[in-house]
Amino acid sequence: MTMTIPTPLLLGPNQPLDRPYRGGAGIARFRGTPQPSPFTPEDFVGSTTEVFAGGGVGLTVLPDGRTLREAVAADPELFLGEEHVRRFGPRTMLLVKLLDTAERLFVHYHPDDAFAARQLSSPLGKTEAWAVIDAADDAYAALGFRRAVTPEEVRTWWTGQDADEMLAAMNRLPLAAGDTLLVPAGLAHAVGPGVTLVELQQPTDLSLLIERRSLSEAEALLGLDLDTALGGLTLDATPEERIASLRQRRGAETLFPADADPFFSAERIQVTGSRELEPTFSVLVVLDGIGTLEAARGSLSLSRGATVLTSHGDGPITLDGDLDLIRCRPPR
Ligand SMILES: [Zn+2]
Repeated sequence: MTMTIPTPLLLGPNQPLDRPYRGGAGIARFRGTPQPSPFTPEDFVGSTTEVFAGGGVGLTVLPDGRTLREAVAADPELFLGEEHVRRFGPRTMLLVKLLDTAERLFVHYHPDDAFAARQLSSPLGKTEAWAVIDAADDAYAALGFRRAVTPEEVRTWWTGQDADEMLAAMNRLPLAAGDTLLVPAGLAHAVGPGVTLVELQQPTDLSLLIERRSLSEAEALLGLDLDTALGGLTLDATPEERIASLRQRRGAETLFPADADPFFSAERIQVTGSRELEPTFSVLVVLDGIGTLEAARGSLSLSRGATVLTSHGDGPITLDGDLDLIRCRPPR
């Protein structure tokens, strides 16, 4: 039996409460919605991923009451298309978030697939990428180490919890609206305060925090001991040329370098008049403009802050108007 699917669908805010760092004002500003609390820096958009603590938190709930995860599991080909299901199985392979920082993020890193499978019982790790949509004048990110560091040094950081020491060993990158950055699994990173971005990720919530603040050691390291956790951290230097390549956009529309292709893809799409997009599972994030989205099953009004879920089964969709948006897609 094929159930009718509810896409294309405008998605409202889906912000887990009580995350361990402050933020969310930029999401409220972008969407024109209230900020649920000072600790809502993340908005899970079109999500089949729950937070590490579980309880269904983070999952997108559809108008019929099912979670998107349940709906995709019930009819993966309709949502994802035959080819995607053949290559990746009945998983979306994509998590999109809006993220807004009111304070600097923890210095953290994410496991790659092999480490996640070996140590965390997850077939997927978490490579991620950012498209900055708003940023304070002095906004920055820290990414990778400026020089090779030793396990002993990281153990000292862990014991002393001196974040300035950690940051001093890392590359510091200014961030402005329009910037993009691929963050491969294993690289230590943090985002400074005052940054709003669209984040594409492998669909897991696996973060290993070298800087733990008030979190317990088990919370910070997902229950691993430090020596085990260190096995997932890139201790080598990440030189300037590598940083430059991670910041590179490819051509007019493709937002991330080729290294992102196995994980996800994103395009910055500007429409003046009318434009047809091929069928795919995707999350659209409208950055600016006014327009409409038309599909066989329905039409939607779009303006800044709108986020839309589309399915492969929607068929081609047509955008009309003056629109500036990011289309986030699974790997191809
Ligand atoms: Zn991260």
